[in-house]
Amino acid sequence: MNNNKKKEDRAAMEISYYCQNRQCQIIQKKSYVLKLKLDDVMDEKNIAQMYCPHCKTELKTEKS
Ligand SMILES: [Zn+2]
Repeated sequence: MNNNKKKEDRAAMEISYYCQNRQCQIIQKKSYVLKLKLDDVMDEKNIAQMYCPHCKTELKTEKS
């Protein structure tokens, strides 16, 4: 039981990257969000810069 609960908590540890482009938000009807599991990222500082697939704007970890 306790083990399962722990797994869920870990899975919930995600980093969200948001598209900051207002024009893109209007076209897409919402902000593009890319979610990565913390396990996949390992070291946030070493991660490559990511870009929105729609408008090629840099994704940022905080909401605009
Ligand atoms: Zn975008």
